[in-house]
Amino acid sequence: MSHPDICIAGAGIVGLSLALELHGRGMRVAVLDRGEPLAEASTAAAGMLAAHDPENPPELLPLSELSLSLYPDFLERLFDLSGLQVPFHTSTTLQALPPGHHELARHVPVLAPEALSLLLPGLTPGDHRFLLLSEQSLDPRELAPALLAAVRSTPIELRTHTPIRILRSNDDSVEIHTAADVLHASRFIDCTGAWGFTSTLPSHLRVSPRKGQMLAVALPPSLPLHLVLRTPEIYIVPRTNNATAVRAIIGATVESAGFDKTIYPADIARLRALASQLLPPIADAPELETWAGLRPSTLDNLPLLGPVPGSTNHYVATGHFRNGILLAPATARVMAQLIAGERPSVNLAPFSPLRPPRPQQ
Ligand SMILES: Cc1cc2nc3c(=O)[nH]c(=O)nc-3n(C[C@H](O)[C@H](O)[C@H](O)COP(=O)(O)OP(=O)(O)OC[C@H]3O[C@@H](n4cnc5c(N)ncnc54)[C@H](O)[C@@H]3O)c2cc1C
Repeated sequence: MSHPDICIAGAGIVGLSLALELHGRGMRVAVLDRGEPLAEASTAAAGMLAAHDPENPPELLPLSELSLSLYPDFLERLFDLSGLQVPFHTSTTLQALPPGHHELARHVPVLAPEALSLLLPGLTPGDHRFLLLSEQSLDPRELAPALLAAVRSTPIELRTHTPIRILRSNDDSVEIHTAADVLHASRFIDCTGAWGFTSTLPSHLRVSPRKGQMLAVALPPSLPLHLVLRTPEIYIVPRTNNATAVRAIIGATVESAGFDKTIYPADIARLRALASQLLPPIADAPELETWAGLRPSTLDNLPLLGPVPGSTNHYVATGHFRNGILLAPATARVMAQLIAGERPSVNLAPFSPLRPPRPQQ
């Protein structure tokens, strides 16, 4: 494609979902990734659609709820294009109230011990007070092949192993320099996740990597886990096979370690120990896998969605931190609306790349 309407940098869940949305509106789209598509944060994630996690910034709620409402159609569209079904593995979450968080408990009752042991026999709640949330989770490693096959079924141009090096933006187009050539597009959207390609953002809005280490264990038959268990320290997310819970993802560390993705046995052991305090059989569950990924984070934990300062054709859609899987469908929708000159479905002011620093920053 010599002159696409839109060039997207980054083939993670954000870049590819947005590419599909823009293609659906009749635009010619090219996506360039420095490596393989969906090989970074988007397949390292646990896959919780945690719109009502009490630790999310309150400003995120309208975008999160929009995304939840779009998820069924998003998955249906992937199925139509790819033939691959992406199932939800769970539909409820036992959420421990973080200390000092009383707001959620005003809307959702704290579970009595009897109710808790009916929901999850074998749970040792300690001092935690748990609530039951309606919240789904999916497996990002099932979502990724469906999203990729969906993109590949369209004329969207996907170039892998093509890092974008330099961007030159003028009034009516953008020049995108790779090692091999120069691409011209009407608009450029930075979806490079933790790598944050855009250097013209104010310093308080720069994106940085926050490392997350995780492990997966085989679930013993004595532990039929059918919901997500989440406390401020740890989450345990079951993956099912024909409705039987077979493995559990345990996560995750949140670290500032640059772009290092080393897995440290001591950190993995600590995650397992925290999970075992809640569900003792996890102490001896066979380890299946460990991995680490890099979340794109901002200082205020809110994404960056919109045009960058001083440019009319250079946009960013990144900084989704712990919620990029949840927020991908809504991000694609509102970014496409912005680019088409329509009013976005939710107020994007909290996510503006022009927002001022918060008082504590
Ligand atoms: C351990 C862990 C657990 C998580 N759990 C959840 C969860 O349960 N629920 C949830 O909603 N979210 C979760 N997340 C967060 C979620 O994974 C991220 O917010 C989301 O994947 C970000 O997607 P992205 O497309 O912005 O980034 P990525 O998937 O990282 O994609 C960015 C892409 O940009 C490419 N790129 C970088 N620089 C360049 C360049 N110069 N040129 C071209 N391409 C470039 C990279 O190669 C990469 O493919 C978790 C993350 C981690 C690490």
